[in-house]
Amino acid sequence: MYSSRLGQLPPYLFARIDELKEEQERKGVDIIDLGIGDPDLPTPPHIVEALCVAARDPANHHYPSYVGMGAFRQAVSAWYRGRFQVSLDPNREVIALMGSKDGIAHIPEAFINPGDYVLVPDPGYPVYRTSTLFAEGRVYTMPLTASNHFLPELDRIPSRVVKKAKLMFLNYPNNPTATVAPPSFFREVVEFAEDHRIIVVHDNAYSEVSFDGYCAPSFLETPGAMEVGVEMHSLSKTYNMTGWRIGMACGNTEILGGLKRVKTNVDSGVFNAVQHAGIAALTGSQECIRQSCRIYQERRDALVHGLRDMGMECPLPSATFYVWAPVENGVAFATRLLEEVGVVAAPGVGFGECGKQYIRFAITRSLERIQEAIDRIRRLR
Ligand SMILES: *Cc1c(COP(=O)(O)O)cnc(C)c1O
Repeated sequence: MYSSRLGQLPPYLFARIDELKEEQERKGVDIIDLGIGDPDLPTPPHIVEALCVAARDPANHHYPSYVGMGAFRQAVSAWYRGRFQVSLDPNREVIALMGSKDGIAHIPEAFINPGDYVLVPDPGYPVYRTSTLFAEGRVYTMPLTASNHFLPELDRIPSRVVKKAKLMFLNYPNNPTATVAPPSFFREVVEFAEDHRIIVVHDNAYSEVSFDGYCAPSFLETPGAMEVGVEMHSLSKTYNMTGWRIGMACGNTEILGGLKRVKTNVDSGVFNAVQHAGIAALTGSQECIRQSCRIYQERRDALVHGLRDMGMECPLPSATFYVWAPVENGVAFATRLLEEVGVVAAPGVGFGECGKQYIRFAITRSLERIQEAIDRIRRLR
């Protein structure tokens, strides 16, 4: 019944964990879910208020513009200038997205012919792979390992692949490894992309979730980046707005043009009231971001130190709300965590083969619950 395209998709690797979780819940186990990357903190009130006001205005009840309201694109442009010193023409270098997933899921369709390669980090956000397969592209996985500091080794990609590669996905600060990229890596990427005419799609969903004074760059800050790439960004993680579905694609006009042509045929834009809320988020006080980061940092410290105390080797991430911990077998460990002590964490293999010996904890639960999770994990070992 289903298309062969659907048949090509990798199995959903969290299905088993989801099943086990439901089973435990049915038994009445008090589950601590550190599995999903969805902030537990609420959207700041001034953003919610802007939505309420805009939702009452009939002017906002019509089809939105495909590329987003001018005022939203201007707010994005001003935010990029203030935050990254990147200058973007709101009319040509910004389009609104229904979350960054929208941009990631649709961009290969604009550029990939059957058989073209897409360079995809492994482990990585699963949509890079599935969007490539939907466009009938071939996935070439770039391993992210501790030994390469979780950065793709571009010079190790075989030249037969590089020749047929049309697009590359990157994501720093990175989900699931919680690592960051030095500016020198982005410079290397721009040079590689120029040399081999490869479109770079940088996913910057976590630029605002960082600790200990670390400040994540935009890929577009890199000299030459505007010629070779685009950045997918999102208000989801920055302002605790995952449910609202709003983000933006910024960068090279021609590349954005391809994405825009796909999108005009599959969706009809972001509800204007949500865009008004997005403007309130981007132009209002950014104190809410610092507040969220302080909360995450406290949780991160509790989890990482707790895991280290029981002998787990676990780096202290300087960005994202994940902790990526090496274990002997991620699936076996996640299963034991869930069955024996009611803690959900994501087995790393769900993000790719190279994640097999890892487990990802999301610190999107309160400090008390994280401390409780540590107490439980201690019992396990
Ligand atoms: C959460 C996430 C996204 C998607 O975010 P939305 O803007 O809500 O669609 C994209 N990429 C990565 C790496 C993520 O973790």
